[in-house]
Amino acid sequence: MEAGGGLKRYVRTEPHMGTYFTIILYAPDSEAAEAAFHAGFQRIRRLDEIFSDYRPDSELNRLCRQAGAGPVHVSRELFEVLTLARRVSEASRGAFDVTVKPVVRLWRRARRQRRPPSQARLRAALELVDYRAIELDAARRTVRLRRRGMRLDLGGIAKGYTLAAVLSELAARGIQRALVDGGGDIAVADPPPNKNAWRVLVPTPEEMRGEPVILRLRHSAVATSGDAEQYVVLNAKRYSHIIDPRTGWPVVGPRQVTVVHSCATLADAWATALSVLEPEEAIALADARGLAARVIYSPRPGSFESLDSRAFRKLVSYQVPSPVPPRP
Ligand code: ADP
Ligand code: MG
Repeated sequence: MEAGGGLKRYVRTEPHMGTYFTIILYAPDSEAAEAAFHAGFQRIRRLDEIFSDYRPDSELNRLCRQAGAGPVHVSRELFEVLTLARRVSEASRGAFDVTVKPVVRLWRRARRQRRPPSQARLRAALELVDYRAIELDAARRTVRLRRRGMRLDLGGIAKGYTLAAVLSELAARGIQRALVDGGGDIAVADPPPNKNAWRVLVPTPEEMRGEPVILRLRHSAVATSGDAEQYVVLNAKRYSHIIDPRTGWPVVGPRQVTVVHSCATLADAWATALSVLEPEEAIALADARGLAARVIYSPRPGSFESLDSRAFRKLVSYQVPSPVPPRP
């Protein structure tokens, strides 16, 4: 389709990192679009080889095998992610913590076996959880995991980093008007021709009965963390796949947090971090830091409330607010 400025719109979707990535871009012709798609998806594959939790030979897992030894020289990408992760850990006072993996592992097993891990196991796993035990040396670009048995989990941040990296990859090829969607987290560069923003829909899970939010974004990203798809019910409580690293227990849902940030990596990490905190605490922290965040939660079974930070309200203020439909 001709879209102005001689640019046409091209779309491609591929499965990566356990989800679907879609790239929408504007290019002068299909050859340029093909080259850009190739470069963009290639970048995702490369980053998966670095960040993957599932590949035993990923750079991340190789680093983890050196826990208690080290320091280990790492790629620029891994160093950047760990640096941004540390920033969010500090700013959230440990609500976000990529060293939470030993506990995540126990709860993954708990989901399968449908019973919580024993207190003894949880306590042992928690001994290994502490973002301050990751030593980062920027000058040498090395990482040392101070405690033997430490494991890292980039599930709360790597996708955001990947979205941003794809946009830079496209920009390096002269493609500035682009959007990348990774399983619902979205990063955008310049808007489509003749538009001043991308219209991005943030869906609300059906059970939460909220209106979807339409955001108008450029050079920005939106990340949503929620337990709509991954949770386990034990003793009538709904446990999320997000863990509170301070207690070793999962966040009790339903809960959904959306963060809009100019940096896709930080949007992703903050959406996870704010999910850990109590809704009021999350919004207070978002306001203190000028973050645009919306928290949807359930104060009582069957009812949902939504809290917006000031910066988030500004983003959606052009919309007529629509009331949540009454409960049946
Ligand atoms: P989703 O888009 O699946 O909701 P998130 O971005 O919220 O994903 O990240 C959730 C993942 O982050 C978990 O599956 C786990 O791997 C990891 N994780 C869980 N709890 C924490 C935490 N407190 N800090 C950092 N990472 C976490
Ligand atoms: Mg996240």
